[in-house]
Amino acid sequence: TNPVFTGINTTVFETMSRLAMAHGAVNLGQGFPDVDGPEDIRQVAADALMEGPNQYPPMLGLPDLRAAVAEANKRFYGLDIDPNRNVLITSGATEALADSLFALVEPGDEVVLIEPLYDCYLPLVKQAGGVPVTVRVTPPDWQLDEAALRAAFSSKTKAILLNNPMNPTAKVFSDAELGLIAELCRAHDAYAICDEVYEHLVFDGHRHTPLMAFEGMRERTLRIGSAGKTFSLTGWKVGYITGPETMLDAVSKAHQWVTFTTPPNLQKAVAYGLRKEDAYYAGLADELMQKRDRMAAGLQALGFNVLPCSATYFLTCGIDGLGLGATDVEACETLVRDAGVAAVPVSAFYGSDAPTGYVRFCFCKRNEVIDEALTRLGAFL
Ligand code: PMP
Ligand code: GLN
Repeated sequence: TNPVFTGINTTVFETMSRLAMAHGAVNLGQGFPDVDGPEDIRQVAADALMEGPNQYPPMLGLPDLRAAVAEANKRFYGLDIDPNRNVLITSGATEALADSLFALVEPGDEVVLIEPLYDCYLPLVKQAGGVPVTVRVTPPDWQLDEAALRAAFSSKTKAILLNNPMNPTAKVFSDAELGLIAELCRAHDAYAICDEVYEHLVFDGHRHTPLMAFEGMRERTLRIGSAGKTFSLTGWKVGYITGPETMLDAVSKAHQWVTFTTPPNLQKAVAYGLRKEDAYYAGLADELMQKRDRMAAGLQALGFNVLPCSATYFLTCGIDGLGLGATDVEACETLVRDAGVAAVPVSAFYGSDAPTGYVRFCFCKRNEVIDEALTRLGAFL
């Protein structure tokens, strides 16, 4: 088998969900909402399933969805995007990441990554033949260290892969941090692949600014979004890439042999969803923020060291002193088995030498589910 995959475990999200099911645990591990996204969006998909289209849509995506993605870029970020040249539809952000890396990275190229990192990043970079160069950010504020980032860039750098807002740190990169990243990309003539799937799940008056909006970045940046996160429909796997034509040309060559296309009824419904009123987007963030506060208060009261959370639907917590085990992995095994609550060990988001004192809880759950999890944890601790 390919050495890239040797010794790689099944993804932690699948592993924890299987354990949650086996133990009848409340699943706060894998990130997915327990209520499906808007009924009107699902209705558009259902109607399209019956009325069509049901055959291969164009390889680059349904024209209506590409137009809707371009409109959303203008509406939320003031970016002028040509739907015919600057948008590619993919089967989820995961496919978008794979296509982007396979298209841009040549064997031996260095790719700068910020650690902790979403778990598919390292395997995909390696599969593309790239050499990962990681810069670590540390709790509680996960601030990007300027000197470390500068040192990570070199003449071998082909790209930076940036997740903003960031899973699992729940961090929104500041304008100063993004400005520094942009400066280094320009100075080293590097691409930026921006995983912005949590762009609309941002709290407390923080604003999401795409790196693409920074000076000199339009021509070197791919910006990736996902309907799974924006519309609470994670199983749909509809993603979108915005970028310059030259880059997307190469990415679409990878896309054509990976999936070629994405179900047309879902594309049609996502086009409808992206045009939803401002109140939808505001309501989504508002509802999640309340759930964050509900879960954070409960976990804090139980002795977890809940770190700040400005975005996403994840809370990362220190577990020191709770007696849950020697490592975060042991703690998660204990929690799912003995407390009946599944979480994810944060060490899964590191390549090596991971810190082992943090676990991640997902809070996009019904209030009664959050309360049940807190009750179970309280009874156990
Ligand atoms: N990137 C990040 C940072 C994620 O947390 C996830 C998980 N949903 C993805 C990408 C994958 O998105 P999709 O389900 O659209 O492939
Ligand atoms: N992105 C989700 C998370 O961080 C999981 C997605 C998956 O299971 N592949 O929990």
